[in-house]
Amino acid sequence: MSLSDLCNGVFSSAKALSEGLEEPLKPEGLIDLVNQAIHLSNWLWEEIEERHITDFEDIACKKGCSWCCYKQVGVSPLEVFLIAEHLKNKRIKISLEDIKSRLTALDQITNGLTSEARLSSQLPCAFLVEDSCSIYEVRPLACRGGNSIDADLCRRHVEDMENVQKEEELEGRPYWIHAVPFNVMRTLREGLTTGMKKWDLGQEKLELTAATRIALQEKDALKNWIAGKDIFANGRIKLN
Ligand code: SF4
Repeated sequence: MSLSDLCNGVFSSAKALSEGLEEPLKPEGLIDLVNQAIHLSNWLWEEIEERHITDFEDIACKKGCSWCCYKQVGVSPLEVFLIAEHLKNKRIKISLEDIKSRLTALDQITNGLTSEARLSSQLPCAFLVEDSCSIYEVRPLACRGGNSIDADLCRRHVEDMENVQKEEELEGRPYWIHAVPFNVMRTLREGLTTGMKKWDLGQEKLELTAATRIALQEKDALKNWIAGKDIFANGRIKLN
């Protein structure tokens, strides 16, 4: 199976999931939808591996390596609401109040930054606890697809960005990511948000820290979003 065949299939399945929601839209229906998308993403990882659609042996990502968690993360509203539900209903390593404080403190520094400026801040994601993702079960699709074949280059993107940029200008950007998981997870998110157009919802791309802070702090955030309120005005991703 080619990458484009796989992506076409993923896009159609995710779009059909969103379009197939029951009317009228209810918060629990949307949470169930994004849970299904997460199951689909887990299944896709297994399929990619089992069918040898890509060779994972080169992937350098390992538990305890977290350089990618210093980057700006783009998410859809649905992913944000799933994370907020997870935090409200389950115990993670730290308390909900601590997570809210971490999100607020980080958002005060990173809100509105471009992806480059966000990386230059050298600040980790608010969900990174002891070098592991505290919301691993419900982590964004961008984090699921993100990968690297060169962990040292990831480190240098955080600690030595200026020199990495100079090298890239001279030598071109090195190949350092496996395209299959990256593209499949991105396509899954695009399929979900495209399907949400049927309901006049879900086309905006949000920034993980700001959007999760809003979803946790705003009363009835999901209900208000379904009702068409622009609750994420301060949580959109800033394009370079
Ligand atoms: S959500 Fe988890 S995997 Fe994604 S950047 Fe944050 S800590 Fe890392």
